Amino acid sequence: MRFQSGVFIVTGGSSGIGRAIVNRLHEEQLDVISIDITPSDQSLTTPHFIVDVTNEQHLKNFSDKLKKPIAGLVHAAGIQLTGDIATMNIEDMQRLLEINVLGSFLVAKHVGTKIQDGGSAVFVASELAFIGTSESPVYSATKGAIVAFVRSLAVSWKNRKIRVNALCPGATDTPLLQRIWNESPSPEKARRADEELILLNRCAQPDEIASTAIFMLSEEASFVNGHSLIADGGTVIW
Ligand code: NAD
Repeated sequence: MRFQSGVFIVTGGSSGIGRAIVNRLHEEQLDVISIDITPSDQSLTTPHFIVDVTNEQHLKNFSDKLKKPIAGLVHAAGIQLTGDIATMNIEDMQRLLEINVLGSFLVAKHVGTKIQDGGSAVFVASELAFIGTSESPVYSATKGAIVAFVRSLAVSWKNRKIRVNALCPGATDTPLLQRIWNESPSPEKARRADEELILLNRCAQPDEIASTAIFMLSEEASFVNGHSLIADGGTVIW
């Protein structure tokens, strides 16, 4: 695969999809730096910095220190909280909005604006931006916001020829989804219920979503811009 030269920044690089993307970029022998509110485990050999994506000063300090040109950005940091709209409390709604939406704005402001001309940015949204769910309506709304934001960013950065896309995964076997399954009375049943909604009858592995992100970052996707790529094994179509 061909890539722009420069460093690739991945948010949410300590776990799940973000971590798989860091590993794939490293395997491609690219320069990669991850940031996350959580420290990485010791098996991560690439540079990792503690940054809260809702904290503007953290992001500014991080981006001010970057000396290398940025070739690409993947913003994967995010949370999912489930709950019916009738019972979800305001603190949880605010947390979702802050991390998923405000975090995307701040990452775009402090890291995205520093991407060199011709670079690429991928914001991780979700298939739930496109389908209704009573289980996590506020989360879905935050992911819909990311999809809309990405389109505007692609327009904003057109003079710099930066491609900006949303990656919308379906159910992916990560600590985020495992936590949600574990909250239900029968985690195995909850997992099976998610799998039954997918034509391939299984959840994605983080590496499969990482492959899609790598494609979107690469020059192989040189004409893909302002797009939302749904990687859900066939869920939203039926
Ligand atoms: P995960 O919980 O395994 O990883 C998310 C990472 O984001 C964690 O390392 C966490 O520490 C980090 N993070 C959370 N808040 C942060 C903050 N304020 N600042 C910096 N880092 C922060 O989850 P995942 O499943 O890998 O999810 C990655 C992205 O993919 C999320 O945006 C999620 O909404 C999205 N997504 C996940 C699924 C799924 O089924 N797992 C499906 C669709 C979309």
